[in-house]
Amino acid sequence: MQIRAAVARAPDQPFEIVDCDIAEPGADEVLVRVKACGICHTDLAVKLQHIPVPLPKVLGHEGAGVVERVGPNVVGLAAGDAVLMSFGSCGGCAECQRGSPGYCNDFSNINMFGLRSKGSALRYRGAELSGHFFAQSAFATHTIATARNVVKVAPELPLATLAPLGCGIQTGAGAVLNTLAPPAGTTIAVFGAGAVGLAAVMAAKLAGCSAIIAVDLRKERLAAAREIGATHILDGRSDEVLNQITQITGRGAHFSLDTTGNPAAAALSVNCLRQRGCSAQVAAPPRGTRYPLEASVIVGRGLTVRGVVEGDAVPGVFIPQLVDLFRQGMLPVDKIVTFFPFDEINHAIDEMETGAVIKPVLLMD
Ligand SMILES: [Zn+2]
Ligand SMILES: [Zn+2]
Repeated sequence: MQIRAAVARAPDQPFEIVDCDIAEPGADEVLVRVKACGICHTDLAVKLQHIPVPLPKVLGHEGAGVVERVGPNVVGLAAGDAVLMSFGSCGGCAECQRGSPGYCNDFSNINMFGLRSKGSALRYRGAELSGHFFAQSAFATHTIATARNVVKVAPELPLATLAPLGCGIQTGAGAVLNTLAPPAGTTIAVFGAGAVGLAAVMAAKLAGCSAIIAVDLRKERLAAAREIGATHILDGRSDEVLNQITQITGRGAHFSLDTTGNPAAAALSVNCLRQRGCSAQVAAPPRGTRYPLEASVIVGRGLTVRGVVEGDAVPGVFIPQLVDLFRQGMLPVDKIVTFFPFDEINHAIDEMETGAVIKPVLLMD
């Protein structure tokens, strides 16, 4: 079957939308007609080779669409089902079995490298084209995903708005609700007010945090943070951020989250904590990045620094919860998404990088 897919060929080349062929779904797979796909920083990090995954490749890992066909071993999914796609996992390793698929032994092979037992599902001009990125490669009109990484949702939902639940929103909201789990009345500082940070702000509001401090370099993002629940917004360029957080919270924040991967910001997200505080680190900075953490601060205050992948979520459990929160108006992701036609993928990325939009979502039909 012929489809259209956006190919990342080289770091300095724009995405190119080409016609290619897609295979039939394997035994545990589904063929999904993609209606929309969010653009996440990991897509750009791979294209720019900050994460060294071989190119050319079809990226995209926040896909949403409708199931067209299912493989013979797939249960609980059928043609016509509306689905959101999330990250893949093996299902058999110890981490998957204990409910931590974000730490699957094969996470990198399955998600970054797009490992698929039958080889790539995509062919371009007769040759195999690397796909199955995050078990989906959803910068395309159709995709083969695995039954494990698609989540069925109610058909009347706005699929395009919800597409980013599969990665960015799950990452930010999950790091707060699943990992940090701040008790009501505690304080939190969120570094970086992009889609992940803003999802964390929404989640912190849901959790009942009394002070939700958003730190970013861009005014528009701080304004968005304020609109969706930040009680305080701080300009990350100021030398006073640490003092300001201490002033707002009394002795430092109970919790923090760094979404930036910027060494100074990440270190600040730890230094701004009070005794026994906990920081979640969710960014994926280039390999070799080191954070200048002060050991005596970590030890003396009894701090916890937790790395968190995909919000510690089990997508099939957590995404339906996020969908319900959206339906109740408690997770206003509609306030941070901007839609672009699929053909405008390169423009959408420019707008994301300049900060003109927070979460671009491509529309395939
Ligand atoms: Zn696994
Ligand atoms: Zn992502």
